[in-house]
Amino acid sequence: EAAVNRIAAGEVIERPAAAVKELVENALDADARRIEVAQAEGGKTLIRVTDDGHGIPAEDLPQAVARHATSKIDGSDLLNIASYGFRGEALASIGAVARLSIASRAAGAEAAEIAVEGGRVGQVRPAALRRGTVVELRDLFHATPARLKFLRSDRAEAQAIGDVVRRLAMAEPFVSLTLTDVSGGGEKVSFRADAETGDLFDALAGRLTRVLGAEFVRNALRVEAEREGLRLTGYAGLPTYSRGAAVAQHFFVNGRPVKDRMLLGALRAAYMDVLPAGRHPAAALYIDCPAELVDVNVHPAKSEVRFRDPGTARGLVVSALRHALAEAGH
Ligand code: ADP
Ligand code: MG
Repeated sequence: EAAVNRIAAGEVIERPAAAVKELVENALDADARRIEVAQAEGGKTLIRVTDDGHGIPAEDLPQAVARHATSKIDGSDLLNIASYGFRGEALASIGAVARLSIASRAAGAEAAEIAVEGGRVGQVRPAALRRGTVVELRDLFHATPARLKFLRSDRAEAQAIGDVVRRLAMAEPFVSLTLTDVSGGGEKVSFRADAETGDLFDALAGRLTRVLGAEFVRNALRVEAEREGLRLTGYAGLPTYSRGAAVAQHFFVNGRPVKDRMLLGALRAAYMDVLPAGRHPAAALYIDCPAELVDVNVHPAKSEVRFRDPGTARGLVVSALRHALAEAGH
């Protein structure tokens, strides 16, 4: 019952970056290898996400924008979730607060599109599209001026969109991601990361160089460890590469960017003896485990997680980092 209530509480699209997160996650769920995000005026007037994923069959388009419609889970096993989305809320929520249009083409099918305005779903029409899906969202909050007023400057909203795209880019090194600012009819690439190749560490090194900078990767230790079904992979900054603030601390659980207090605490604890007070470690760490060992459904924003055995997760992070630091002479 609790899980059902959590889902019913639903997610609210509070700002453009939240919409971008949902749309890019949908593209990732559709196995896209190439995702392009365009935004204008900080996403307030336009957000467009183009992907080369498996698409939506024409007959499923009305269903895709309906509330509580998800193709990803049947509701019987909410703890066993491998995809990003599972509530079937995002497109419906967006359709309620923006002019939404979706054009899509599933393999071997004709392309089609659908539009939603003020929550009213239009007819499915034929469209011209080679493959994948284009979701376009115009005039976010145009019908709710009160919400619009809470948005920050175009620049701040664009920055928040950039943060979301960069975090997802770190989570998915084998996917190509581009973010373009098309404000005022212009076209300026704000972030671009081509699909990485090679083994996981190569790919991560390449992607983290792109997102966090070459200095981070040059000054980071490879981390690899396993404990009771949890696998930890990633890069942890040398003590000399510490920061004056707790930024550049990134955790991913089963491919999802998370902001989890327990994990951040474990990171802090691992460096406690090697960093002076006021200095903070930089790290990009990836934990992977069978879906039943972690509950990602704790919070609608999906950035907190609950491990079945938090002690194991914490112990894994602390010991793996301490071991890597000790090996490097710290
Ligand atoms: P959820 O992701 O929780 O299932 P959404 O409202 O985000 O719910 O999306 C509803 C449905 O629309 C998805 O379950 C999926 O079937 C379809 N969908 C949305 N975006 C895409 C996309 N880019 N490519 C393929 N299918 C999509
Ligand atoms: Mg979704």
